[in-house]
Amino acid sequence: MIKSDKPAIVWFRNNLRIHDNPALAEANRNHAQIICIWIAEPRFFEHTLNGHPRIGAFRAKFLYESLQDLQSHLRQLGNELWILKGEPGKILPQIAEAHGIKKVYSQAEHTDEERRVEAEVAESLDLKLYESHTMMHPEDVVGGVNRLKKSFTSFRKRQERDWKIRPVCETPEMVSPPPQPAPIMQSLEWNMQMWAELDQPADSRAACSFRGGEQAALERVEHYLWNTQHLSNYKETRNGLIGADYSSKFSPWLAVGALSARWLYFEIKRYEEQYGANESTYWMVFELMWRDFFRFSAIRDGNSFFGYLKNRSWPKLREFQAWIHGETGQPFVDANMRELKNTGFMSNRGRQNVASYLIHDLRLPWVLGAAYFETQLIDYDSCSNYGNWTYLAGIGADPRNERRFNVAGQAERYDPDGAYVQLWD
Ligand code: FAD
Repeated sequence: MIKSDKPAIVWFRNNLRIHDNPALAEANRNHAQIICIWIAEPRFFEHTLNGHPRIGAFRAKFLYESLQDLQSHLRQLGNELWILKGEPGKILPQIAEAHGIKKVYSQAEHTDEERRVEAEVAESLDLKLYESHTMMHPEDVVGGVNRLKKSFTSFRKRQERDWKIRPVCETPEMVSPPPQPAPIMQSLEWNMQMWAELDQPADSRAACSFRGGEQAALERVEHYLWNTQHLSNYKETRNGLIGADYSSKFSPWLAVGALSARWLYFEIKRYEEQYGANESTYWMVFELMWRDFFRFSAIRDGNSFFGYLKNRSWPKLREFQAWIHGETGQPFVDANMRELKNTGFMSNRGRQNVASYLIHDLRLPWVLGAAYFETQLIDYDSCSNYGNWTYLAGIGADPRNERRFNVAGQAERYDPDGAYVQLWD
């Protein structure tokens, strides 16, 4: 196919990878010149309702590393990543005009803020959006994504009856080079040093040393599947609390799109062919379905998915501060909250318990907890985070009055010798 001599923009968002990246692959197929861009948007520097930065130090460092990795990968393939700062709706048209560009290729997002930004860009440019964040394509939701059931189990059963995962797209061996950059590019450039400097001291108790970027993501998959075959025991170990391998730890890379969920699905299938399918390999796909389910729920619900409370005058702030700092007096909650504060990560078991404790024991508004997780979680993903919080608050998926965990009972069951509580004492 002959490539157009008109250049195009590839606007990277939560798809910081080369593999299975349809926006990049399609632009590369169609255009002889490409400008690759990532934009630090003003909203990234806003604060949550708790007054904390939306992107806290752990997230910032992980993003910084992911962008650096993408930069070096694109250079190897003959291109370059421009890291810019500004409103995409303003700066993409300026860049396009300076280079005679009409087309912008990017990843489709489905949450309100992201869609508003997309709409601004699409006002003056031909914005081509590709689905690449989920394992399943939203158009393949049985019965239609807008009529998605509230119950995860019904969704799962319907999908499993009519199972369809689209093939991954090809990984480019070379990327079309960029045109000579117009002067405007330098003027919009953002120096990420501010994020690099937020680096937190490493905590030797951390479950995993997360390094951002596609390279590290693929190494993690190599480790968890092929080198150790931990995947074959995932169902038995997934409720663990200590160490790198009780669960996959894929979430931070999935969140920024350094790892494709769809590519991962086919790796799991390839693994099953070699080492055999069992309940654990099934369960990994089951959890990836939860991730898809929350994103599809956000498409169905629009902004109400985030369920913000209108009342912004929060009671009991002292209790909230104690929860954040791991000083509530409930040892299992405190251990988990200290892990989060010091490392940016917490196990799924921990997240369920601390969230339940905030909602049902401290009786604090769940959005306070969700907003703190937004700042702090290295794997923060708007749909997975708010979806899980509303689920536990009983107002999201499978709505029900009390989804409460007996935290002391959970500690006895999952930390019977108290090793985890002791680790974070
Ligand atoms: P594994 O157990 O190895 O699971 C494999 C993958 O499946 C994960 O990487 C993740 O992508 C997906 N997954 C697993 N459990 C869930 C789940 N309950 N919901 C959605 N996807 C799931 N996950 C995030 O990625 N980002 C978040 O911001 C986030 N916030 C959460 C908030 C609360 C209150 C709770 C209870 C859970 C939250 N989760 C979130 C889900 C889950 O805790 C993490 O995905 C998981 O702990 C990450 O570790 P892992 O990669 O080792 O998971």
